[in-house]
Amino acid sequence: MATDPRYLELQARVAEFVDDVLIPLEVTAELAGGPLPTDTQYHVRTKAFEYGVNGGPHAVEHGGHGWSTTEWFIVEEQLGRTTNGVSWYIPNAYNVWKHASPALQERWLIPALRGDLHDAYAVTEAEAGSDPSGMTTTARPLDDGRWVLNGEKWFVTFGSVASVIVVMAYALVDGERLPTLFAVPADTPGIETVADVPFTHTYPHGHPTLRFTDVIVSGGDVIGAVGEGEDLQRMWFTEERLGIAARSVGAMQRLIEETMDWATGRVQGGARLIDHQGVSFPLADSAADAAAGRLLGLEVAAMADAGADPKLVHGKASMAKLFCSEAANRCADRALQIWGGRGYMRTTAAERFWRELRVDRIWEGTSEIQRLIVARSLERRGVLAMLT
Ligand SMILES: Cc1cc2nc3c(=O)[nH]c(=O)nc-3n(C[C@H](O)[C@H](O)[C@H](O)COP(=O)(O)OP(=O)(O)OC[C@H]3O[C@@H](n4cnc5c(N)ncnc54)[C@H](O)[C@@H]3O)c2cc1C
Repeated sequence: MATDPRYLELQARVAEFVDDVLIPLEVTAELAGGPLPTDTQYHVRTKAFEYGVNGGPHAVEHGGHGWSTTEWFIVEEQLGRTTNGVSWYIPNAYNVWKHASPALQERWLIPALRGDLHDAYAVTEAEAGSDPSGMTTTARPLDDGRWVLNGEKWFVTFGSVASVIVVMAYALVDGERLPTLFAVPADTPGIETVADVPFTHTYPHGHPTLRFTDVIVSGGDVIGAVGEGEDLQRMWFTEERLGIAARSVGAMQRLIEETMDWATGRVQGGARLIDHQGVSFPLADSAADAAAGRLLGLEVAAMADAGADPKLVHGKASMAKLFCSEAANRCADRALQIWGGRGYMRTTAAERFWRELRVDRIWEGTSEIQRLIVARSLERRGVLAMLT
């Protein structure tokens, strides 16, 4: 399915960008504690435009490439071969902007895809992680059509650099609590960073906790319609989860490639490492994981492109995220072991993947939550639909 010449050309182009532009920056980023110098960031951005890898599946008129889900999967797979979040410097934006008004798209989406600003997405709260029903952030309507937001959001990726924050809140309308997404300009009075602790990975940006106190936004800052927040978020999750599956597959490919080079080049105990079954079998298991994950992910992408039932695609995207993220963690652990003491050095890709891939079992819904979704989908969509 991914052997179409169009896909192969895209794959080769992105692979070249990854090999020539991104991978050489990883160790510098690691040793610098995450962020790269401004001129290097600018270099990545310029090259991203040159190679045509910016903007993902966003519409061409907004500055994207209008990629199909399969094309997007192929690109994300290549970006997954990198560590240290060096691909975060490629201009991009969250997919919910597709459902925003032309005015919001003009203000936030188009500049984001030009690389002029960043967005962030704030859903999680202290008491609302896996179970969003515990969310307490509210949006109270004013008589003049504006809204007043109050609440606190945790783990806001890009929260320290974003110009606009997509905030999920309950709109309080006629005694109802309607889940709604708001585009909140980051410089609006009442937004403060209340925590910004270091995380396990060495990435360009942190994941701060942001507090919103009487933050006033206009009626035009609602994304989609009032009460549409959960539907839009489900679409966001489907795409993000498939993206994690794709990047996990790419990570496995690089782990196996580099570890094969090492295992076929190093001799211990009178034989190449690869000639010891204790080394070759984990590599064989990793290859099976990577190949199976790729097929599953591409199948889900093809279903999305063919217009399959979004609920089925949602269930299968969860299955792909679950399998690929767990598999990539297995592969990273095996690779690190095969690298021996060198596998514990931060200058070795296996070490960085081993740390960085851990979060893929947590964010965009933990593995346990993916299992709940898959189990529910088996019941509601049917076993055959989920497996064939
Ligand atoms: C680096 C990082 C970046 C992030 N970026 C963002 C972001 O940009 N925007 C955003 O909104 N959020 C973000 N998140 C939040 C992330 O999505 C949540 O951490 C995740 O959904 C889990 O929620 P929680 O941390 O509250 O864990 P909890 O929900 O408290 O879960 C704790 C444990 O209990 C398990 N558990 C919970 N419920 C069940 C159940 N019903 N059955 C079985 N097990 C269960 C979980 O699987 C987990 O193992 C980020 C998180 C991290 C670590």
